[in-house]
Amino acid sequence: MRPELEASLLHCRNLPSPPGVALQIIDLAQDPNVDINATARVIGMDPALSARMLRVANSPLYAGRRRVDNLGQAMTMLGLNATLSLALGFSLVQGLRGKNGTAAEQEKIWRRSVLAALAARLIGQQAGVARLEDLMLAGLLQDIGGLALLQAAPSEYTALRARAGDNAALLALEREVFGSDHATVGAWLARQWQLPAYLGDAIAASEAGAADPVDDPFPASVAASGAVADLWLATEDPDGLLRAAAEAAVGMATGKQAPVLDELLVQIAAALPEISALFEVRINRPEHLQAISEHAKELLILRNLREIQEASQARHDVQASEERMRRLTEQSRRDPLTGVYNRLQMEEVLEREFATAVALQQPLSIAFIDLDDFKRINDQHGHLVGDQVLRQFAQTLQRMLRSTDLIARYGGEEFLVVLSHSNEAAASRVLQRILDEVSRLPMAVVEEQPLHVTFSAGLATHDSAGTRFEDARSLLQAADDALYGAKREGRNRVSPHRQ
Ligand code: GH3
Ligand code: MG
Ligand code: MG
Repeated sequence: MRPELEASLLHCRNLPSPPGVALQIIDLAQDPNVDINATARVIGMDPALSARMLRVANSPLYAGRRRVDNLGQAMTMLGLNATLSLALGFSLVQGLRGKNGTAAEQEKIWRRSVLAALAARLIGQQAGVARLEDLMLAGLLQDIGGLALLQAAPSEYTALRARAGDNAALLALEREVFGSDHATVGAWLARQWQLPAYLGDAIAASEAGAADPVDDPFPASVAASGAVADLWLATEDPDGLLRAAAEAAVGMATGKQAPVLDELLVQIAAALPEISALFEVRINRPEHLQAISEHAKELLILRNLREIQEASQARHDVQASEERMRRLTEQSRRDPLTGVYNRLQMEEVLEREFATAVALQQPLSIAFIDLDDFKRINDQHGHLVGDQVLRQFAQTLQRMLRSTDLIARYGGEEFLVVLSHSNEAAASRVLQRILDEVSRLPMAVVEEQPLHVTFSAGLATHDSAGTRFEDARSLLQAADDALYGAKREGRNRVSPHRQ
């Protein structure tokens, strides 16, 4: 690549760069000790990505295997390597799309890429390539060089793309104007992003024409996928040139003769609705592909019929599995014993509440509540009674607080409540009322004897008109200190934080 081009790409402020989740996946993909749990954690943090993984696992690409209901099952079914490649593809496409004025042009590039990803996979299947998801990813990323050129020289490259009638002309113009084509730039970008080497190699070889054929079926499949995508996307092919190019490239990659392209086009037509939905890219079926043989057309019609029948079933299944996902996510936020939020969820919520309070200059009170002498209840009456007390206590908290207040079990017999919009005086009144109620109301009945408990509470308030805290963490620390104060002073009380 010309040094001037490299320099201008390096200095281009908005050179496309992978989103955070993609960077993490790139790291995982190159970590020799990567395991499925670490991968699940990274993917699981991105709900949209998780939903896509679930959907792809249930898509016709993997048809015939059993239904998959959650991310763990999806990953087990796909295998670690396939999971990483698919997740990287999804996160890159979502993260890189439509950031500025060249969105429409970028969309055209993605349309070719997504189509090529599907074609690469199907060609690879014919060619006996083992790692089909890697192949899809290489097919998908083969045009990232075009995205980089589009950012580095938006109007120039858009005009150049408009001027070029087809891919061959585009390559020639790119070499003339920039001294490099998008395959070379793409391979360079893949190195910048530290993508696995096989991807850079496949991108570099993606525009190898008939003049310098590639032997390895992997890059050959990627190269052929571009030709097939071009045939599919062309509005017309009067001289059959695109078809001939695609036929030659597919033949080269698979070592198979004539009908293989027709079969491929039929397979693409069948899988395309799902693939374009997965990547959220609109790709139409071309009218000009009349040249598909009669036999292939019949197949296509049969498949379409089946597709329509299956589509309504699939929609139903997707809804059901999304509902299951929502339920699982909600469960993972709650403490199983008491049903209130768990500590992890509370820490997340508290960060948000704190930021809101600061931004809107509203007071925010939080209180650590710890049951007094709870160990004695366990010791005297057993753990089951202890559990019942914890449940009853959580219910009492829920009953006595506003629905906008938040309750979490922080651990053991310690709870955290968050009272938004409440200053110290108001929060203190509320907590005292709860303490009165809790002392009055038995939390369990053992051998017909009512069991009473008390608690100690440490209260801390962030108030723009009073004490301000740096962050949620220091507010928590202050409430914790106040709780120790309450215990020290004899328990059964609410103690506000004092500096
Ligand atoms: P203090 O007034 O100083 O808070 O005394 P305490 O006895 O309440 O405090 P300590 O921290 O010594 O004991 C807490 C007890 O809570 C010990 C532990 O066995 C019990 N505990 C923690 N989680 C659970 C639970 O899920 N169920 C039951 N039954 N007991 C629990
Ligand atoms: Mg206690
Ligand atoms: Mg405790």
